[in-house]
Amino acid sequence: DEWNDGGAAQGTQQETDASGQQTRQIVKKGVKDFTFGRTLGEGSYSTVLAATDRQNLKEYAIKVLDKRHIIKEKKVKYVNIERDTLNRLTEHPGVVRLYYTFQDERSLYFVLDLASGGELLGVLKKMGSFDIECSRFYAAEILDTIAYMHSRGVIHRDLKPENVLLDRDMHVKITDFGTAKILKMETKANGAISSSNGEMAGNPMDGAETDKAMSFVGTAEYVSPELLRDKNACKASDLWAFGCIIYQLLAGRPPFKAANEYLTFQKILALEYSFPEGFPEVARDLVERLLVLEPSSRLPVEHIMSHRFFDGVRWGKDLWKQKAPRLK
Ligand code: ATP
Repeated sequence: DEWNDGGAAQGTQQETDASGQQTRQIVKKGVKDFTFGRTLGEGSYSTVLAATDRQNLKEYAIKVLDKRHIIKEKKVKYVNIERDTLNRLTEHPGVVRLYYTFQDERSLYFVLDLASGGELLGVLKKMGSFDIECSRFYAAEILDTIAYMHSRGVIHRDLKPENVLLDRDMHVKITDFGTAKILKMETKANGAISSSNGEMAGNPMDGAETDKAMSFVGTAEYVSPELLRDKNACKASDLWAFGCIIYQLLAGRPPFKAANEYLTFQKILALEYSFPEGFPEVARDLVERLLVLEPSSRLPVEHIMSHRFFDGVRWGKDLWKQKAPRLK
């Protein structure tokens, strides 16, 4: 489909109209347009490399996927979901931006924003936990990005500190949309288009048997009770994960953690967690309104933004222009 055949460097192509006038330039990039550098990380089906555009020396992260491996492991669907969701989410600083996709005989390539600050999880582990100011800032950037994704009809479904990357200025870039769900957009009577709020997203392993679905979940700690109970995720499932993340930023560990996945799921379904001593009261109040078993009873995004935990936060563009607080 829309995969450019980028085996050869293609540079710019000129489009001309009937009168021979140049109308616009389409930039089609290929493997040969980039200089590949260090390995940034490896996934189960991919390797991510730092790369530089030969023409303008702009730096990117390029995710390289082995086609044979993807096909053999039946992951084509997820690769397409990742590309399609990223292509929908290009106007927000909090989402890793996808610039180009192309392929050669062996591999698929995703040219992405370089997140040179690494994973939020790594930074958090190094610090142990964050103070309230740092936690507020990172939680605010994550929430601002969730609000944007949801407004574009995308549910992430796998939010966790590993999937929150940081750019060179230590601002948030959310990644890993391979298990995201694109909601059907509905046209309202007044002609306005919006994503349907109540739509239930399917289980990432649609039709697969339960234990397979469980192993697909990856990190069990952030899974919402509705996904475990009904195999259904909705926008509020991202807010459950968000509650787990706020808890983790301040406590240094996720709220639901046990010796194995099964026991973790039991804890989630029983809402069995507690706050460590010294956990700020204002954050506790917010977390308690997010870690609610019934998804429709969780605080909606707008109310989270106006919760007193976020007092003083300037939502919108200002948030992304401000200097990230020093880690404490
Ligand atoms: P899996 O597929 O097994 O779940 P994953 O989703 O982490 O793993 P990738 O998305 O390929 O797999 O990422 C591999 C590693 O590369 C990750 O550890 C991640 O931190 C790093 N990485 C991914 N995208 C970027 C990026 N845009 N900038 C910098 N590092 C990145």
